[in-house]
Amino acid sequence: MKIFCIGRNYALHAQELNNEIPEKPLVFMKPPTALLKGDKPFYYPEFSKNIHFEGELVVRICKNGKHIQEKFAKNYYDQVTLGLDLTARDLQNELKSKGHPWEIAKGFDGSAVIGSFVPLAGDLSDISFTIRKNNEIVQNGYCQDMLFSIDYLIHYISQFFMLQTGDLIYTGTPAGVGPIEIGDVFEGFLQEKRLFRTQIK
Ligand code: ZN
Repeated sequence: MKIFCIGRNYALHAQELNNEIPEKPLVFMKPPTALLKGDKPFYYPEFSKNIHFEGELVVRICKNGKHIQEKFAKNYYDQVTLGLDLTARDLQNELKSKGHPWEIAKGFDGSAVIGSFVPLAGDLSDISFTIRKNNEIVQNGYCQDMLFSIDYLIHYISQFFMLQTGDLIYTGTPAGVGPIEIGDVFEGFLQEKRLFRTQIK
């Protein structure tokens, strides 16, 4: 099972981190041990002093495929959820400045908070989500604001990696990311439905 993540897929988020708007999707991966399911708490690790939350829509692949054409991509996913792509921003900035891979800043244990899946109904472009921190909305996501659509991401990723049933794609974060602190509670709502809750310990 593979976990793909997309960086800089919303223009306003790329700008808030002073990153360029990408011409191609920026793809990275997390190992399966990064998953944090079942509303379990996240324990703040010692290796970072600046972990950020990034709330994201997550798509589950339901069929194996390679070189998937964009027009057929809809056949390859049927469930979505919300999650957090937790990022050790201090480590990531250090690695980025040296041009090094950023796995340790992105793929550590528990860094892929994942909610419960819901069947996909209707057109994804109408979907919106919110991330709440301590009951306050900190991120608003609208799928139509994505720089690269989910169908295009599936097409793009499947040129390099065979997609398999159960693979996940974290589709990038909208603006509003920020640091997590011990005691914070994060929740993800798809429309009105809460799909995850996690406390930082
Ligand atoms: Zn992200």
